[in-house]
Amino acid sequence: MALLELSDVTVHYGRIRALSSVSLSVAEGEVVTLIGANGAGKTTTMRAISGILPLSSGRILFDGRDISRLRADLRVVRGICQAPEGRGVFPGMTVRENLEMGCYTRKDRKNVAADFERVFALFPRLAERRDQAGGTLSGGEQQMVAIGRALMARPRLLLLDEPSMGLAPRFIQQIFHIITEINEQGTTVLLVEQNARQALSRAHRAHVLETGSIVRSGTGAELLADPSVKEAYLGVA
Ligand code: ATP
Repeated sequence: MALLELSDVTVHYGRIRALSSVSLSVAEGEVVTLIGANGAGKTTTMRAISGILPLSSGRILFDGRDISRLRADLRVVRGICQAPEGRGVFPGMTVRENLEMGCYTRKDRKNVAADFERVFALFPRLAERRDQAGGTLSGGEQQMVAIGRALMARPRLLLLDEPSMGLAPRFIQQIFHIITEINEQGTTVLLVEQNARQALSRAHRAHVLETGSIVRSGTGAELLADPSVKEAYLGVA
């Protein structure tokens, strides 16, 4: 059984149809990536899964249960957590306080300390800067905080929207490496990326979105080798 399953999901912004009958699944333990051009509907797909946007039609199952109409905060409780595009780090709060915001649904306070240690082990840079204000961090460090904050809620499914956006090359490598590490520690990941080559090489499976529809699906390796994907998304003819 898939951990996450979208069936014929259609989403509108007013009269504009942003997703048309999107079907995809993510199995427990996988990294699945969505690639596509600007405006293809990647962020919209993530918002539909996290519950920020209502579905016009279709269905989303999580762990076998229909969450299509479940409130966003209750999806977090079920184990779906998003590190949003644009990061959303609180500038006046320290790194530690920002990370604490990620576990607001947690009742088992005693495990929170262990989660801080896990996040700081994944991101030693954040450990060094734990008392520094979020607003003074570099873009790459803020991205680390956003991912770390999502991990504090111990998600079963981590949604990552463009984690490499705007980062210097050495941070891009590091973020992708950390995504693999998070996955190897047992977290299932759905990753949206413009950086198609990196994302496909890290993903078990992948889908290509074009104007709101999935036009190609396969393993990461299959899509990396697909001539039309190469031409459109990998910059090689
Ligand atoms: P990007 O990489 O540029 O973020 P994307 O693949 O994530 O692109 P979406 O942001 O999901 O694309 O947008 C899908 C479509 O929905 C686009 O045509 C976009 O213009 C439209 N859209 C997105 N947000 C809104 C909104 N708030 N109101 C109206 N239309 C929207």
